[in-house]
Amino acid sequence: MKKQLLLIGGGHAHMVTLTKLHTFIDKGFGVTVIQPSEYHYYSGMGPGMLGGTYKPDDIRFATRRIVEARGGRFILGKAYSIDPLKQLVCLEGSGEEIPYDVLSCNAGSHVPRDILGEQTANVFTSKPIEELLAAREKILALCAQRTVAIGVVGSGPSSIEIAGNIHQLCRGHVAYMPNIQLFGGRSFMSGKPERVRRLARKILERKGIEIIESGYVQKIENENIFLENGASYQADIIFPAVGVRPSQIFARSGLPVGPDGGLRVNEFLQSTGYTNVFGGGDCIYFESEPLDKVGVYAVRQNPVLYQNLLNSLEGGPLEKFSPGGKYLLIYNLGDGEGVLSKWSITFSGKVAFFIKDQIDRKFIRTFQETRLSTLARVSLVDIAFAKQAFP
Ligand SMILES: Cc1cc2nc3c(=O)[nH]c(=O)nc-3n(C[C@H](O)[C@H](O)[C@H](O)COP(=O)(O)OP(=O)(O)OC[C@H]3O[C@@H](n4cnc5c(N)ncnc54)[C@H](O)[C@@H]3O)c2cc1C
Repeated sequence: MKKQLLLIGGGHAHMVTLTKLHTFIDKGFGVTVIQPSEYHYYSGMGPGMLGGTYKPDDIRFATRRIVEARGGRFILGKAYSIDPLKQLVCLEGSGEEIPYDVLSCNAGSHVPRDILGEQTANVFTSKPIEELLAAREKILALCAQRTVAIGVVGSGPSSIEIAGNIHQLCRGHVAYMPNIQLFGGRSFMSGKPERVRRLARKILERKGIEIIESGYVQKIENENIFLENGASYQADIIFPAVGVRPSQIFARSGLPVGPDGGLRVNEFLQSTGYTNVFGGGDCIYFESEPLDKVGVYAVRQNPVLYQNLLNSLEGGPLEKFSPGGKYLLIYNLGDGEGVLSKWSITFSGKVAFFIKDQIDRKFIRTFQETRLSTLARVSLVDIAFAKQAFP
């Protein structure tokens, strides 16, 4: 029986592995990919899809088609747990067990649901990105009938981008402009550079978005947002866009994890407990230098992960991953405006968004199926996502 490589999730850290999947097949290895959707969405363009700058097809990779075109097996499903001793991954729902010799995990992260009550109609989390597509339809439908209140919870990168792009979606396109409120905890964008915060606030407030900073959101229930200070706000549509957490698969399976529950990996992106388990992206805890949950690291991990999976199957030496230096940060705040920051350079406006748009479009084109013939030649230098990210 040939050796089996199993990938959980076709996320940003598996892009090179997926597009070079034929190299594993050519060497006689079997490859299986498990993913809950036939597509993987590029999160950097998610808010732009909400705002209408991009169509869903512009921002997604056809994972199933890429895998099958290259001789791999695609399983539409969710990995639930891993048995590292028997080398099996158990699927959610069916309980089917998929064997592996080498396993690589890129199952991403999710928005914690602990602040959500049972009534979650019209509540759309910032991840998975598909939620933003459903939210878009709901906003357009409701805003055609009456003035609605939309609450965006969180004041990190995804929440400010979502708020700004809701404005873009509605401006000039709906009969009734919504009232958009951003629940920014105790201090808007706390922890981010002062100038970035000031510029982002200015843009959002100019759009009429109200920024509420009187306390953290404690509960979301029955179209109400409850703050820790006892205040409550009614909202017809709510976006919880608070900090993400890694997939729970690893903690559930008893693998070594970091404090956030991410798969604990060493400098080879290899589980600290099992030498034939690897991982990348938001779902790992990089032991030597805990990393921000940004796409840039997932993208930078690509070549090392690919090489180490191949070497692990073939018995070759492993390569070390180095997270690299500071990255460019650009927010898409809707209506063609952005905020850009790197080192001591920070500015806002149309040029900032233009740069992000160019970088994002280049990245997505590089990996979309239409360019499959060129994929094998792609170098990381060409991967635009690697050059920009959220802090
Ligand atoms: C709205 C928004 C905008 C963002 N914009 C940027 C940006 O501009 N730049 C930037 O650097 N970062 C950005 N980020 C952060 C970025 O999204 C993450 O860091 C990045 O998505 C991590 O990539 P990943 O591949 O690890 O995870 P994901 O992108 O979450 O991909 C994980 C994949 O695994 C699959 N999966 C999930 N669970 C399972 C399972 N149980 N079994 C099998 N498959 C599974 C999913 O379907 C998905 O395809 C943004 C985040 C959000 C929410």
